[in-house]
Amino acid sequence: MGSDQPSRIEELCQEQGMKMTGQRRVIARVLSEATDHPDVEELHRRAVAEDPHISIATVYRTVRLFEEAGILERLDFGDGRARYEEAGGDHHDHLIDINSGKVIEFHNAAIEALQEKIATEFGYRLVGHKLELYGVPLDQDLDDDPGADADGD
Ligand SMILES: [Zn+2]
Repeated sequence: MGSDQPSRIEELCQEQGMKMTGQRRVIARVLSEATDHPDVEELHRRAVAEDPHISIATVYRTVRLFEEAGILERLDFGDGRARYEEAGGDHHDHLIDINSGKVIEFHNAAIEALQEKIATEFGYRLVGHKLELYGVPLDQDLDDDPGADADGD
């Protein structure tokens, strides 16, 4: 295993002069390897697979530290659980499957342009935005689900 090499997020931490303990390095590596948008509990599950001594409190503290340093971005997909991804990557928006929690990343030039147009109309230069779409799969037939009730949210 090439785990002696610093992960990308560990390198970003080092650039900021952050002190990297063994546990922080593991958490940084787990975050670097994540291609989904894990919450703290999921990060903890992955981290303990590498080091069983890592507590969930340590994961909480570490992601907050990384977030405050601008290394991680915290995402809120409306279910009350903070999720994380590396900050500063290529800009993208998120489509969230509210049944499975699956997250699809997308980039749409028409949406980007429309948002700039709206900001301009209000006299602003756009410097950023967050867009989350929530959906259910089109091919999901509600008749198949006897537990589905009609009272919406
Ligand atoms: Zn993302």
